[in-house]
Amino acid sequence: MIDSKMLVLVVEDEPKLAQVLLDYLSANNYATTWLADGREVVKYFSDRPAHEQPDLVLLDLMLPGRDGLEVCKDIRKISNVPIIMITARVEEIDRLIGLEIGADDYICKPFSPREVMARIKVILRRIPHPEEGVSTPSTALTHLQLDESRFEARYHNQLLELTPAEFRLLKTLADAPGRVFQRDQLINHVYDDQRIITDRTIDSHIKNLRRKMSLISPEDVIRSIYGVGYKLEL
Ligand code: CA
Repeated sequence: MIDSKMLVLVVEDEPKLAQVLLDYLSANNYATTWLADGREVVKYFSDRPAHEQPDLVLLDLMLPGRDGLEVCKDIRKISNVPIIMITARVEEIDRLIGLEIGADDYICKPFSPREVMARIKVILRRIPHPEEGVSTPSTALTHLQLDESRFEARYHNQLLELTPAEFRLLKTLADAPGRVFQRDQLINHVYDDQRIITDRTIDSHIKNLRRKMSLISPEDVIRSIYGVGYKLEL
């Protein structure tokens, strides 16, 4: 197997901060690219063939030109790459989650670079590489197929474009159809590190999942159980 490094795209306008991240990433054996301007991000993605796309994006919220929120939405229109948002204030995290912009995790400044590396590892190890996926069992329900080895979801035989967090969430629900999961149980399945993950993060991912699934079929298979959590009924 070719030992190709994971590519992490850092979008950060402060050169010193960016350099710290790039140094740590290199030391942790990641390939890196740095963009200081949010307006360059979409072009960066569209200029590259599929196999050269970043494996993860570290995205600062406060950027000149085009802020991190807009950039995150831009990326989500063209890619399901995991995105970790970096924000200067912990209070902003709640607001970001409420906006459902499709980021996978949030880190607050000031952060320790080691913490950032740990979060990256957690997210990336959930994404199996196709060449490693020999025979991972896939969830197969009548209308929903989840192939963990390819990180691919099909709903009514159509490809469902999901972020890693959404895939994990749907996989958890689909592994036990009809079972009601509490939000904190879902958090445990979707995130190993739950320091800043709130119930609203799960609600936000569920909303996105429902929206994406409803584009394929109008029936709402994810049921909210008032005061408890969610279950999947197919
Ligand atoms: Ca900034």
